[in-house]
Amino acid sequence: MLRILAILALIMTLPGVEPIPVITGSTVVHDLAVRIGGERFSISCLLRPGVDPHAYQPVPDDIRRLTAARMVILNGMGFEGWFDGLAKEAAFAGTVVQASAGIEPVMTAGCTDHSHDHTHDHQASVPDPHPYNSMRQGVRYAENIRDALIAAAPDAAEAVRTRAEALIAELRRTDAWATAELASIPKARRVIIANHGALAYFARDYGFQVLAPNGAFEDSEPSAKQLAELIALIRNQGVRGVFLEYAKNPRLVEQLAAEAGVKVAATLYLDGLGPAGSPAESYQGMFRSNVAAILAALR
Ligand SMILES: [Zn+2]
Repeated sequence: MLRILAILALIMTLPGVEPIPVITGSTVVHDLAVRIGGERFSISCLLRPGVDPHAYQPVPDDIRRLTAARMVILNGMGFEGWFDGLAKEAAFAGTVVQASAGIEPVMTAGCTDHSHDHTHDHQASVPDPHPYNSMRQGVRYAENIRDALIAAAPDAAEAVRTRAEALIAELRRTDAWATAELASIPKARRVIIANHGALAYFARDYGFQVLAPNGAFEDSEPSAKQLAELIALIRNQGVRGVFLEYAKNPRLVEQLAAEAGVKVAATLYLDGLGPAGSPAESYQGMFRSNVAAILAALR
């Protein structure tokens, strides 16, 4: 009996026997997990490009998919605010991994001026849950995903580690490219205004000031006073970087640009990948596309 069990255990851990079902909670995490995991895993994402990850409403099929999964890899930091409810409904008992684990949170706020001391009643500072918008933080995501996949399938450790190493080397090269290119933008022009506070890590890592009238989760509306402050700032400081975001309501940014008399710059992909066939169809493509849009608008 013991021998049969031992043989069974061996068969169950053999590569290619039965891919381990893994669910991802964001398109960025999904792209990294697929690149690192290979065929030992069957990885599927709950979200599609163009779906707002903060406002996502799980559908009944998500419960079925979650029930069948052994592991879930989330972005974490509250990015998938809907997940806990879904996990409860699915009675999910597998492993939940946060790809952003270990990243020191950077606060974001919708304020136009971070030095003032009065508090906005509706836009308290919260940790920006989008570290991946800095490629330097994306490396940490890849490392965490690598470790989670190895823990789930120790038999695939070597292959997973090899793929992760190659990917991390690519991510580091992309980060070096972005650092060098973005450094060519004059300091006074390094101000970006986008819908929601998704660029705090990008701002810190590449030396920008980012203003986000709608807060970290796009769940707050700026007051008339804040809008007036923003418009004055755009006019007085000659801010060029008023950006639209993919899959977000353009109304506020268009209004800001129109009232300040500036053009709206190219679209940024801040909440996840763009559709297949777009330059942002992969994580690195999305980041490169954002850097290119910022360079085109500000340099
Ligand atoms: Zn977001």
